[in-house]
Amino acid sequence: MTNDSPLKNSGIILWLTGLSGAGKTTIAQHLEHKRQERDRPVERLDGDAICQNLSKGLGFSREDQDTNVRRVGYVANLLSRNGVIVIVALISPYRSIRDELRSTLNHFVEIYINAPLEVCEARDVKGLYAKARSGQIKSFTGVDDPYETPLNPDITCYTAAETVEENVAKKNHDLAGE
Ligand code: ADP
Repeated sequence: MTNDSPLKNSGIILWLTGLSGAGKTTIAQHLEHKRQERDRPVERLDGDAICQNLSKGLGFSREDQDTNVRRVGYVANLLSRNGVIVIVALISPYRSIRDELRSTLNHFVEIYINAPLEVCEARDVKGLYAKARSGQIKSFTGVDDPYETPLNPDITCYTAAETVEENVAKKNHDLAGE
């Protein structure tokens, strides 16, 4: 995941989408460290922190989720146009809104963090799947709310089959000019 040659000094938006537990935060953290080592300005926008701040008060309706994604896209754009490498880790379950951002934001890279639901559920990093299955949480993506898989992502990371290091080393060939 690099933007080496043509975009050397411009920002970029690395947008990680996928089910809860697919590995977005883990990969985003690794990417962040890698970029910091190279002395590039980097900002990570992670779903949990966003929900507690930027999108506090929003619920899980389709409308609220779209609002959340649009807000994050707006902030990501402000940062990236000032040269920041922005790493977004957000379930962002709906294809149409991701496509909207992809077509309107510059240097937007859609990265599908792909892991089967069974694997995410077995990981259950935050215990949320158990709560969703028992009905304590409603409208949980993958359980009783849809996740629309990206049809043509720029990069796909198969986290049930590949290591974090392999995922982080992936490059976007178009952007890298390779
Ligand atoms: P998300 O942010 O998508 O909800 P997390 O990154 O919080 O997911 O959790 C993913 C879990 O899967 C972590 O416990 C991580 O250690 C594990 N994992 C196993 N293999 C991978 C991989 N190749 N990439 C990312 N995470 C992985």
